[in-house]
Amino acid sequence: MVAKKAKQKFKNRALIALALTCILGFGVGGFGVFNAAVIHGEEYKYKAKSQQLSDITVMARRGSIYDSNMNVLAKSADAWTVFIDPSEIKNEETREIVAKGLSEILEVDYDSVYEKCGREKYSYIRIKRKVEYDKKTELEAFIKANKGLHRIIGFEDDVIRYYPYGNFASTVLGFTADDDVGRSGLEVHYNDVLTGTYGRYITAKNARQFLMSSDYDSYYAATQGASLGLTMDQVIQYYLDSALEQAVVDHGATYGYGIVMETKTGAILAMSTKPDFDANNPYKINNEKVLEEIDAIEDEDEKNAAIAAARYGQWRNRTITDSYEPGSVFKCITAAAALEENVVTTDEMFYCSGSYQVKDRMYHCFRREGHGREDFVTAMKNSCNPIFIEIAQRLGPKTFYKYFDAFGLTEPTGIDLPGESIPKANVTYYTANRFTAVSLASCSFGQSFQLSPIQVINAINAIANNGKLMQPYIVNAIYDETGNKILQTKPTIKRQVISEHTADQVTYLMEQVVKSGTARNGYVAGYRVAGKTGTSEKLPDKTYNISSFCGFAPADDPQITVLIVVDEPKSGAYTGGAVAAPVAAEVIQQTMQYLNVEPQYTEEELAKLDMKAPQLVGSTVAQATKDAKAIGYNVKVIGEGETVLNQTPVAKQVIPKNGIIVLYTDSKSETKKVKVPNLCGLSISDASRVARDAGINIKVSGCTRGTVVSYRQSIATDTEVAMGSIITVSFKTEVNVQD
Ligand SMILES: [Zn+2]
Repeated sequence: MVAKKAKQKFKNRALIALALTCILGFGVGGFGVFNAAVIHGEEYKYKAKSQQLSDITVMARRGSIYDSNMNVLAKSADAWTVFIDPSEIKNEETREIVAKGLSEILEVDYDSVYEKCGREKYSYIRIKRKVEYDKKTELEAFIKANKGLHRIIGFEDDVIRYYPYGNFASTVLGFTADDDVGRSGLEVHYNDVLTGTYGRYITAKNARQFLMSSDYDSYYAATQGASLGLTMDQVIQYYLDSALEQAVVDHGATYGYGIVMETKTGAILAMSTKPDFDANNPYKINNEKVLEEIDAIEDEDEKNAAIAAARYGQWRNRTITDSYEPGSVFKCITAAAALEENVVTTDEMFYCSGSYQVKDRMYHCFRREGHGREDFVTAMKNSCNPIFIEIAQRLGPKTFYKYFDAFGLTEPTGIDLPGESIPKANVTYYTANRFTAVSLASCSFGQSFQLSPIQVINAINAIANNGKLMQPYIVNAIYDETGNKILQTKPTIKRQVISEHTADQVTYLMEQVVKSGTARNGYVAGYRVAGKTGTSEKLPDKTYNISSFCGFAPADDPQITVLIVVDEPKSGAYTGGAVAAPVAAEVIQQTMQYLNVEPQYTEEELAKLDMKAPQLVGSTVAQATKDAKAIGYNVKVIGEGETVLNQTPVAKQVIPKNGIIVLYTDSKSETKKVKVPNLCGLSISDASRVARDAGINIKVSGCTRGTVVSYRQSIATDTEVAMGSIITVSFKTEVNVQD
C-alpha cells in the first residue's frame, strides 16, 4: 500500500483522492478506501465527473503453489472485470447494442444487462468479474466495431485462480474466494505469504478514462505474492487419492482419508480426503448422495442450511480436523511404553481366555473362545485385547499417560494447515489423575479417547523413526516472485519418545503383524512392511465402524509411513485388516516403486516372482517358440510368416512365468483381440487359469499368502484388449484379519 517512490505531488493528490472517496461514501477505513474500485463499490454513484479523482487498485498477483517437483497445483492468471458507464448511454439503440453484445460475449442474462444500461445516474456498474483473456479480446473487438462504445464499456484488472487438476488435493490446497483471499486449506493458512501487496493509481482525469489509459498521474506498483513449494509429491498424492477413492466405492464408505509421510523428516508426501471438491468450482456440491438428500428438502431455509453444511463438509481436510477412536492401531503405543518401561518382553508368555474382567466390566477378545497360550509377539499379531489390558495395568495410569503425552497425543501436531482439531483434557483423552481401572483398560487397545489422523500417523512415525517424534509439515520452501528461495523448512525433531532399541522391538512386532497377523493384507512382496490394523466404532452412535491401518516400509530402513482410514464401510467387511490394509498395500507398493526403493525378495517371494518377457522379434518362429517355451511361456502364433515381426507383451514387460506371448509373423495379420474375463472372486491359481484360457496375462498384486481371493482387476470385464495383454489382479485374504 505504501509506495516508496511516490513523489510529494502524488502524495498530495492521493490525500485529495482519499478525502474525496470518503466524501463520496466509497468506504471508511484505509483498506476499504484504497480498494474501493475493486474490492467494494458494486456501483458508484455518478457525480460531477470533472471534479472526480479515480483511485484504482492495481491487483497483485497471488503466488503459486507447487508440489515437491515444482509442478503447478495452484496458479493465478490475469483476468478482467468488465463494467459499464450507463450515464454515457444516450439512446435506446445504443442501450440495446450494449446489452446484446455484453450478454452474448460474456454469457450473462440480456435482460439484466439491459436493465443496468438504463441506470443513467450511475457511471460505474459492474457486469462481470474474472473475465478471461479470450473474452476480453472479443469484447475489445466489439467495442472497436461500434462507435462510441469505448466511452461506455471498460475493463479493470482482476485475477483468476486456477487449480489445474480440479479435485486434486483440494482439501489440502483449499481455494480462494472471489476477492482473491484464501478461504480454506493452504490458501488460507498461507494467505499472507501468497497475497501480494496491491498497488494503485490515481488520476485526476474523469472516470471515463478507464483503466486502459496510460495517462495516469500517480502509479504505485503492486508487489506480487510469494509462492509455496510443498513437500507433497503429485505422483504419490495421485496413488493415495486413487486408492482411497476406489476404497470408498468398494465399501460404500462415507469417507476415506489417508496420509503418506516421509518417515525421517515428518514431511507430508500425500494427504487426501475422499470425497472432496473441485477447487475451481468449490461451491458445487460434489457428493451425489448429499446432493440428492438436499434436493429432497422442501423448506427453503432448511435447504440453504443443508447446502452450506455440505459445502463446509466437503472443504474439510478430515485428516486433521476430525478425530476418531484409533482402536488397535494404538496397541503399538501401548507396546512401546511397556517395552520401554521393561514391564514386558517380546517372548513373555500370556494366556488369553477370550475375556478379561476389570472391576465390574468384562472385556472380550474379538476371538470369544480365546487365543490360549501366546507370547507377546503373537498377542500383537492376534491383536489380542486381554493381553494389552494386562500390560496397561502393569504400566499404571501415570506411566501410561506419560507416554500418551510424549507421543504428542495431548496436543495438536502443529502442522502448517488450518483447522487442526485440538485435544481436550478429560473430554477427548484422560489425564493421569482421571483414569479409572476401567478407562485405562479400554485405552490400552485404543478406545474411549479420540485422536486425529495426523496425530496417529505422527505417533506411529516416531516408532518408525528410531523413537524420534517429528514436527509434521507440508510447506518445504517459500519463493519470491522471481523464484528465489526465501525460506526453507528444516525438519524438526520434537523429542525422543522411546529408545532406538524399543523402536526396533515395536517395529519387529509390527512386521510380524503384516507377515502373518491381522494386517497380512498390508503385505507387499519385496518390501518389508511393518503395520497395525484398527477397527473402532464410529462415535457418537456406534452404528458403523472406522477401519484403519497404519504402518511403514521398508521395516529395516523406513522411507514412508502410511495411514489409511475408511470411515463407515458398509460392504459387509468392516475390520481394518479386511478394509484398510489392502488400500495401504496398494499405496505402499506404488510409492516404493516410484521412490526407486530396491525390492529385497525372500526365497519364497522369488519363487513366485514374475519375469520380463524375452525379445523374440527378429527370430524365426521355430526358434522364438522354442526359446519362449524353454523359460515357461505359452506361445500363440498369428499369421503364416516365418519370422517374428511383433510380439505381445513386448520385450521386458513383466509377466507371470507361465504367461502367454503372442507372436505375429505376418505384416497383414491384424492384432488378435480377446475379451477380458471376470477375474474377481478367484484364487490365484483359478485366476491364472481363467486368464490363460482367455489368452491374457495376469500380474498378481497384494496379499499372496494363505487363502487369498482376487477383488479387483485393472481392466474391466468384457473390455476388448490385444491377446497377451497384461491385467493386474489384486488379491487379499479374508481369513484372520479381524481387527
Ligand atoms: Zn485374545
